[in-house]
Amino acid sequence: MRSRRELFLEEMGLTPLWRLRTGAAQLRTEEEQIPAARATRAGSAVPAMTADGADDRAARVARMDFTELKAAVAACTACGLRKTCTQTVLGVGDEQADWLLVGEAPGAEEDARGEPFVGQAGKLLDGMLAGIDLNRGTNVYIANVLKCRPPGNRNPEHAEVERCSPFLVRQVELIRPRLILAMGRFACQTLLGTEASIASLRSRLHRYQGVPLIVTYHPAYLLRNLPDKAKAWEDLCFARRTMAGLGPKV
Ligand code: URA
Repeated sequence: MRSRRELFLEEMGLTPLWRLRTGAAQLRTEEEQIPAARATRAGSAVPAMTADGADDRAARVARMDFTELKAAVAACTACGLRKTCTQTVLGVGDEQADWLLVGEAPGAEEDARGEPFVGQAGKLLDGMLAGIDLNRGTNVYIANVLKCRPPGNRNPEHAEVERCSPFLVRQVELIRPRLILAMGRFACQTLLGTEASIASLRSRLHRYQGVPLIVTYHPAYLLRNLPDKAKAWEDLCFARRTMAGLGPKV
């Protein structure tokens, strides 16, 4: 009889792709990074805030606990997005999780429900997680770079990322994940401070503030580019192997 996971993956069209295999192609480790990637290892990537009062705000956010952070995000008007979104979407999951997944910004369904990745991309993400025996409720926290939906799901603007970044920085500090999975261009740009393509960043280990970070495609991109699901699967297997080799949470 097929397991719940197998049925789920099959329904998602993820089988036989999303099956864990031993001996999957070995991907490069941090020690094997090409020089361009080494530049991202320091991980001080989130841009400094330059708008008036932004340094103060970032410093205040840096002292918040999770309760204060939730309230601050809900009350934030640092950029114009709060005027057009329904509600803020801080994140979901285990606040002590080993795994932190970072996407881009809430879409329409996330904006309506107040939870990240609950639309089509979220269903795919749940399938990807199930493929490596994870689920969003357990030992996983899911966040976005932006906490408010950009109108019409347009790309985040630089100033919006800059104003919102202290919240993500603080989430990482509070959660202290053992591994970060950066999904898509905006998560990578924000956490690694690079404009490099996902293709050039994936398959090797980066670090953000000392936390191992692995790059993969954004689930919404994968919905439009099915052949790249195989590469995302490699990334997940790499992430799982990396996690298995990490020491305990400090
Ligand atoms: N895409 C994202 O990046 N985040 C979400 O929460 C939903 C879709």
